[in-house]
Amino acid sequence: MQKIEIQTSNARKTKPASAGELGFGKLFTDHMLVMDYAPGQGWGDIRVLPYAPFAMDPGCIVLHYAQTIFEGLKCYRRGDGALQLFRPRDNFARMNVSARRMCMPEIDVELVLEALKALLRLDGEWAPSWPGTSLYIRPTMIGTDTSLSVQASGAYRFFIILSPSGPYYASGLAPVNIYVEDEYVRAVVGGVGFAKTGGNYAASVLAGRIAAEKGFAQVLWLDGKENRYVEEIGAMNIFFLMREGLVTPTLNGSILGGITRQSIMTLAADMGHPVIERRLAIDEIFDAAERGDVIEAFGTGTAAVVSPVGTLRWGDRQVTLSDGRIGALTQRLYDTLTGIQLGRLPDPHGWVEIV
Ligand SMILES: *Cc1c(COP(=O)(O)O)cnc(C)c1O
Repeated sequence: MQKIEIQTSNARKTKPASAGELGFGKLFTDHMLVMDYAPGQGWGDIRVLPYAPFAMDPGCIVLHYAQTIFEGLKCYRRGDGALQLFRPRDNFARMNVSARRMCMPEIDVELVLEALKALLRLDGEWAPSWPGTSLYIRPTMIGTDTSLSVQASGAYRFFIILSPSGPYYASGLAPVNIYVEDEYVRAVVGGVGFAKTGGNYAASVLAGRIAAEKGFAQVLWLDGKENRYVEEIGAMNIFFLMREGLVTPTLNGSILGGITRQSIMTLAADMGHPVIERRLAIDEIFDAAERGDVIEAFGTGTAAVVSPVGTLRWGDRQVTLSDGRIGALTQRLYDTLTGIQLGRLPDPHGWVEIV
């Protein structure tokens, strides 16, 4: 039976004094959670330890062949001061989906959640209360065998680190400009696009940089086979409000199935907008947008929650949606979902979990 051991740190770091010091993923709390897997023995005890660097062998498998998976979720400070998580079991269940694809061992969702709560109780003071801020949680698993042969590791380390994070939008929710990427692709069917595994993100950086140089905030990814069907924007899922209703691409194996995506589908249905999942060709989107038949579009993900799309550029075609403003449904979905996450609105679907 795995136990949870807690070793507290004597030295405490200085906490940020204003939201401006936060940024994203730059600061880390005083403790971390670590659990090691040994072949033939399975997972050992879960340890909550003082936050510190790991020593790694330069021949470690993860450093060469990227056998690594991660998750991202947030802990929110409610108005009454209590801390709450949003759908944490779904993140750990998805981590097990990624683990199976990457030949890594699965974790015990309930046990890891219990240990995460122990870590959060210890470092809870790091959860900021300024508007739009949260304590970002990063569970990660890496293959730790020392070996240069291309194969699954035998040993693994699972860890969780916590990072107090600032508002995604410095000046409030605002539409972003999107560059439709028609040269580079993020993922292909049969590959690892549905898994949250490091290589997907390393592969996406170049296209993101080129788009940024052209003045765009995000890349819209097309499918890797025909370069035609809409997949995601950056590391967010995408929705279009069209004449037929609210539409999002079907999870086809190369798209990451977001928990925010799932939540938005539920909330939109509650509001009378059942979501249509289907293939969406980029030429269809531009033709419809030029006729005025794409009313709103937005991305969804844990970091931004909902991100309105302003302008879309594809080759020499460019369209601006909702007159460059935040669409009414986009705003309503954002307000409802963040309201539930912050404990300001009732939670009819049982998504929040008090720490
Ligand atoms: C994490 C991620 C998302 C969003 O998932 P959420 O569970 O909503 O945070 C979407 N696309 C990619 C590629 C991602 O890595």
